[in-house]
Amino acid sequence: MQAVKYVRAASVQDAVRLLQDGGATARVLAGGTDVIVQARERRREIRLFVDVKHIKELIGVSYSARGGLTIGAATPCYQIYGDANVRQRYPTLVDASSVIGGTAIQGRASLGGNLCNSSPAGDGIPAMIVLEGVANIAGPGGERTVAIEQFCTGPGRNVLAAGEFVVSLHFPAPAAHSGARWMRFIPRNEMDIAVVNAASQLRFDGNRVSWARIALGAVAPTPLLVAEAAAAVVGKPLSDETIAAAAAAARSAATPIADMRGSIKQRKHLVGVFTERTLRGAAERAQGAQ
Ligand SMILES: Cc1cc2nc3c(=O)[nH]c(=O)nc-3n(C[C@H](O)[C@H](O)[C@H](O)COP(=O)(O)OP(=O)(O)OC[C@H]3O[C@@H](n4cnc5c(N)ncnc54)[C@H](O)[C@@H]3O)c2cc1C
Repeated sequence: MQAVKYVRAASVQDAVRLLQDGGATARVLAGGTDVIVQARERRREIRLFVDVKHIKELIGVSYSARGGLTIGAATPCYQIYGDANVRQRYPTLVDASSVIGGTAIQGRASLGGNLCNSSPAGDGIPAMIVLEGVANIAGPGGERTVAIEQFCTGPGRNVLAAGEFVVSLHFPAPAAHSGARWMRFIPRNEMDIAVVNAASQLRFDGNRVSWARIALGAVAPTPLLVAEAAAAVVGKPLSDETIAAAAAAARSAATPIADMRGSIKQRKHLVGVFTERTLRGAAERAQGAQ
């Protein structure tokens, strides 16, 4: 472990100032389940932790039919999947946040940290992409928003500039006749990094799919929004043929690496399997299943 100074930020402006003053070796500390491991293993040079968990905008979940869902970026997973509105209206966030690590990790780990760690395999990211999530960012130049699918720029890299951090994550209210599902494949039953994760959202107009989003993780340098896969199911009833076309488009978009968890061939195969399963799961939820 390297010697790291710890400061508790009292407000959004305070955190921006601390991050700016700290320069390249200052890091936001949310749950610490990624960044403390990285500091201990000296994978990053860190001299200052700016703890953002005591800023009121960073913790909590709020929902309104008009405004949608806002989650403070440092809100721990257990608080997200325990929220009644999230359970009822955004079960896809429950899918992902309830399997990140185990119970102890979920007591600390946040979706903001999952996003900002920007691992290609981050489990929360494809779920947030299909739900049309945006990151509300504060920094020295003021506030800005970035769509989740545009946030990660490479393994461990993202759009945040010096002094910037994510204050909250926002999701529009779910449309009528819509449903979404997130799933992953891991070699063990729990506590493993995804070999593939995937999410789909579908909206129906009668029996036809009127709108779709499909996102993949762990199969490219960043999580992917795959527009070609969504296009394969839009405008028609969901059928074995349209699902197979979406799965084929998703396999084509995936550019996985081989590592100790899986080969390129296996990952490509799993992309097809999980595109299909999440599409079917999204359709079931659109029909009222939880
Ligand atoms: C045993 C174990 C099991 C795990 N299992 C999983 C798993 O199944 N799936 C999975 O996806 N991950 C897993 N992880 C990784 C980790 O728990 C998650 O990525 C978690 O969501 C990180 O959230 P955090 O709040 O702890 O982030 P932190 O560790 O506090 O931060 C992570 C990174 O993001 C930055 N950051 C955090 N919040 C912000 C913010 N608001 N604005 C700007 N930058 C910020 C930090 O500076 C740091 O670089 C596991 C980790 C452990 C130790």
